[in-house]
Amino acid sequence: APPGTSKTVRQVKLDKECELRVEVSPEYPLRLRVLNGTAEIFGTEIPPEIWMTFPPRLKFAVFTWYGATIEIDGTTETDYTADETPMISYVNVHAVLDARRNRAKASPSDSDASQGPRVIVVGPTDSGKSTLARMLLSWAAKQGWKPTFVDLDIGQGSITIPGCISATPIELPIDPVEGIPLDMPLVYFHGHVTPSVNVDLYKVLVKELAQVLERQFAGNVESRASGMVINTMGWIEGVGYELLLHAIDTLNATVVLVLGQEKLWSMLRDVLKNKANVDVVKLHKSGGVVSRNAKVRQKARAFRIREYFYGLANDLSPHSNIANFSDLCIYRVGGGPQAPRSALPVGAEPTADPTRLIPVNINQDLLHLVLAVSFAKEPDEIISSNVAGFIWITDINFESKKITYLAPSAGNLPGKYLIMGSLTWYEP
Ligand code: ADP
Repeated sequence: APPGTSKTVRQVKLDKECELRVEVSPEYPLRLRVLNGTAEIFGTEIPPEIWMTFPPRLKFAVFTWYGATIEIDGTTETDYTADETPMISYVNVHAVLDARRNRAKASPSDSDASQGPRVIVVGPTDSGKSTLARMLLSWAAKQGWKPTFVDLDIGQGSITIPGCISATPIELPIDPVEGIPLDMPLVYFHGHVTPSVNVDLYKVLVKELAQVLERQFAGNVESRASGMVINTMGWIEGVGYELLLHAIDTLNATVVLVLGQEKLWSMLRDVLKNKANVDVVKLHKSGGVVSRNAKVRQKARAFRIREYFYGLANDLSPHSNIANFSDLCIYRVGGGPQAPRSALPVGAEPTADPTRLIPVNINQDLLHLVLAVSFAKEPDEIISSNVAGFIWITDINFESKKITYLAPSAGNLPGKYLIMGSLTWYEP
C-alpha cells in the first residue's frame, strides 16, 4: 500500500548498535522518521522527527549507536532488525583514519607527512564496498574533512553514469536518498560497463585521473590531509586482480580494506608486504548487503542513466537537440574488442592498438548509444581529457543527415568531440 494510509504507519524500537534493514517496495516509496534517539543511514545522521521519503527499490539500513525509535509509513519489500553488524569494526577504521588525517594536518609543509590516508575498498561484488566507502566518507565529512571519493567501478558507479571512472570531493555527509552530489565531478569515460572490453584504456584512464588528483592535492592542504576513499569493481580474479594492484599502485593507496574474502586479503597482504606504508586490513561483510543478479544490475545501470538526464525525482528537464551529421565529431577508442592475450599463440601480440583513436562515421549503430562530451580541444587530447557530460542519440535521419539527441540542457555542447563506447540506454 502507498504511504499515507494510517494503517501503514508503525514504530520500530532499535536497541543500541542495532539496525533496521529495509528494501523499499518496487511500486511505492517509503516514508520514515526518527521519533526519538539518534540514528544514521550509511554514516549520515538522520534529522530528528522529519519524515524522509525513500524511492522504490532502495535498499538501506537505519543504524543506531545508542538506541532509537523509528516510525515507518508504507509497506516494504522486506524490513527486519539485526543486532549483529560489523559497524563497530568499520567505525574503528574511521577512528584510525581520522587520527592519520590529524597527523597529516599537523605537518602541512612536509610533502609526505602532509598526505592523509588513501583508502581503497576491495572485495567481490555485493560485499558492501560502495556502502563502506560511503560510511567512511560521511563520517569524515561530519568531522569537517573534505575527503576525495574516487569511484573506479565502471559497472555500478555512484558518482555518475556507468562506464566511467570519476572523483569528487565530499564536503558534507552523503544524503541517504540523493546520494553523491553531482556538481562538477572529475569524470573519465571508458564507455563500457566492464573493463575487459579494453583493459589498457581502463589503466590509462586510472592513471590520468590519478595525475589530476595528485596535482589538485599539491595545491590544497585541506583535501590532501583529508585523503581519498577509493571504491573498486567486484572483479577480483585474473585481470580484475591485476587492475586492483594497478589501482593501488597508481593512486598510491596506503590502506587497503578487504571486504568479505579471506583469499583476496591474504593475496594482497603477501604481494604488498614489502611496501612499508601500506596496511592491508580484513573486514567482515555486513549480513545486510543485498545481492543483485545480472538483471538487477542491468536495471540499476539504466536507472543511473535515466537519473542523469531526468533527475532522481523527474526534477530535471533534458533537452532534445538536432544537429547536422557534419557538426558532430565522434571517436571511439581502440580497435574493437581485443582478443585476450591468452587466446593468441605464444609470443603473438594483439594487433589492435587499444588506445588508438578511431573516427566514427554516423551510422545506424549509434542509435540509443550514450556518448560522452569530451573537454578535449584537439582529437589527440581525447584519451587524456575528462568529460563534461553525456548525450543520448534518439534519432538518426540519413535523408536529411540530421541526428537528434537528448542532452541535459539546450544550447551548444560544452565540447566538440564526442566519445563512443558500447553504453546504450532504452527509455523504459
Ligand atoms: P558492492 O559495492 O560491494 O557491490 P554495495 O555496497 O553496493 O555492494 O551493497 C549492495 C546493496 O546492499 C546496496 O543496495 C546497499 O544499499 C545494500 N546494503 C548494504 N549494506 C546494507 C545493510 N546493512 N542493510 C541493508 N542493505 C544494505
